[in-house]
Amino acid sequence: MTTAHGQPFVVPKSMRAWVLDDPGQLRLTEKPVPAPGAAEVLVRIHAIAFCDGDIRIVTKGPPALIEGGLPFNKNFTPGHEYVGTVVKLGPDVDEFAVGDRVVVEVHYGCGRCERCRAGMYTSCLNYGMNYQGHNKGHRANGFTTDGGFAEYAVNNVNTLVHAPDNVGDEEATLIVTAGTAMYALDTLGGLIAGQSVAVTGPGAIGLLTVAVAKALGAKPVILTGTRDARLELGKKMGADHVVNINTENPVDAVKRLTHGKGVHYVVEASGNPNGLNDGMDMVMRGGKICLVGFANAPVQVDVAKLVRNHISVFGIRGEGRSATHRAAALVAEGRVNAKLIHTHTFGMDDVPTAFRYSRDRVEDAIKVVVKINDNK
Ligand SMILES: [Zn+2]
Ligand SMILES: [Zn+2]
Repeated sequence: MTTAHGQPFVVPKSMRAWVLDDPGQLRLTEKPVPAPGAAEVLVRIHAIAFCDGDIRIVTKGPPALIEGGLPFNKNFTPGHEYVGTVVKLGPDVDEFAVGDRVVVEVHYGCGRCERCRAGMYTSCLNYGMNYQGHNKGHRANGFTTDGGFAEYAVNNVNTLVHAPDNVGDEEATLIVTAGTAMYALDTLGGLIAGQSVAVTGPGAIGLLTVAVAKALGAKPVILTGTRDARLELGKKMGADHVVNINTENPVDAVKRLTHGKGVHYVVEASGNPNGLNDGMDMVMRGGKICLVGFANAPVQVDVAKLVRNHISVFGIRGEGRSATHRAAALVAEGRVNAKLIHTHTFGMDDVPTAFRYSRDRVEDAIKVVVKINDNK
């Protein structure tokens, strides 16, 4: 990589980075720029999006796991949905070159456990095992290792995806979220062309699930939610039908729209305590439900109905099996328009404001992006 004046890019010794102090307290500080090790590169970050996961980590701690415990007051930098440029290669890295523009997957598993070996690196059995005396090499930037609310981050080459040239930085930060949507549909069976999908909850993941399902040929794609503006957006992203559950019972609506049969698949993205029970009534016998949202407390479930109707329920974490690569292809082709869910952009100094917009959905914020460095 060279500068505008043709000089080689010089990586500075220190960088600006946000760190998590007490719960809810983010602080801008200086940190050394990390050095890439074997199979790693240094990424100069352009932009990063806030995710519900970040809000959970900043306010409550888990699923972040730092040195075997909570992430507070450990000089930990959160953030995991980012795009940037490779500025330095670790020893023997030839998969990427300096100057490559990349988006990231969150999880680099340990690479040595049973789950990692099967491509399920988001369910690595050595999650968080990356500290002295317990180092199995696991990384999940923004969860167990330093993330992207900083000028630079180290990433394993297996977590990098080339950012499509025709996709801007703000949109590119959302490719990893589209990867989660892709992984949900993979988990349900993947062969969804011509089959019906109901998506409950028009948050970022729900809306991107609509878009990915549509791009893969699902029909009809039905989106349920409570806010008309979000449902309209869902139509733009590919929903064949939208249902406002304040005006129509969502189960009745799904039955009506599928001639009484129910759908093949439900992706529950609302986190509503009754989401799974409703999902069971929406799928046809033998159907499958994937939970990507979840309630914050235990819920009652009609297990007998699950058993009698041969319904399979899956929980997924993040975006395994290279789902982000496949999602990036759909975004590059313009078949998934992630731009539609990017609502706000802030500068690096305004991370606490960006956090508040994302957490409180100020001005109906969906995806809030922070620009870290200029894309130069
Ligand atoms: Zn996320
Ligand atoms: Zn592992």
